[in-house]
Amino acid sequence: MEHILLIEDDDTIARGLVYSLEQEGWAVTWKPTLSQGKKALAEDRFDLLLADVGLPDGSGYDLCTAAKCRGVPVIFATARGDEGSVVLGLDLGADDYIVKPFRLRELASRIRAVLRRAAGEREQLAQLGDLTVDLQKAQVNRKGELIPLTALEYRLLLTFLAHPGQTLTRGQLLEGLWDVAGNFVNDNTLSVYIKRLRGKIESPQGPSILTVRGIGYRLEENGDAAK
Ligand code: CA
Repeated sequence: MEHILLIEDDDTIARGLVYSLEQEGWAVTWKPTLSQGKKALAEDRFDLLLADVGLPDGSGYDLCTAAKCRGVPVIFATARGDEGSVVLGLDLGADDYIVKPFRLRELASRIRAVLRRAAGEREQLAQLGDLTVDLQKAQVNRKGELIPLTALEYRLLLTFLAHPGQTLTRGQLLEGLWDVAGNFVNDNTLSVYIKRLRGKIESPQGPSILTVRGIGYRLEENGDAAK
């Protein structure tokens, strides 16, 4: 069941929405403030954020970055239908925008469309702890920040990704690097690339590359979990 986080400070609207969305078959968590919304986003996994813009402790827009960093699509539902608000919301990366008062059936169909699109995009993304690898753009991000990798480093990361949870021999890793390097990457150079990749991608909440003595290396999704 897909889980929607609803941020709405108006009790009546919120209760109506929770009821209707649950009727559509979604699980709904409702939070009335920006701060509670941020807390929920940090603590739980959601498939979609449906947020009001005018909240007692700030703007719903402040949730957009937090949600998008976690790969959660965002729909804003707000009474502010002026063009400036719509553009701002979409510029922040919102997936859709609906102006109050709206028809519940229209909202439900927009939610379905956004969820479908997000599912398609997720297939192009690999998550390693707090690291996101965008396989389509060949980019690596941590909390929305781009981590620049060289072609060889990226290729090395892809080789690990292609064999989840497996220990790869130095030979297997060298094979993975062959065609991008265009020339032979020797055994010593591999150690250098591993070291550089570690320096770029490892973090307490992120992946780590473990040395398996006498065999090779293994990529752990979450450094802390592995220890
Ligand atoms: Ca409001």
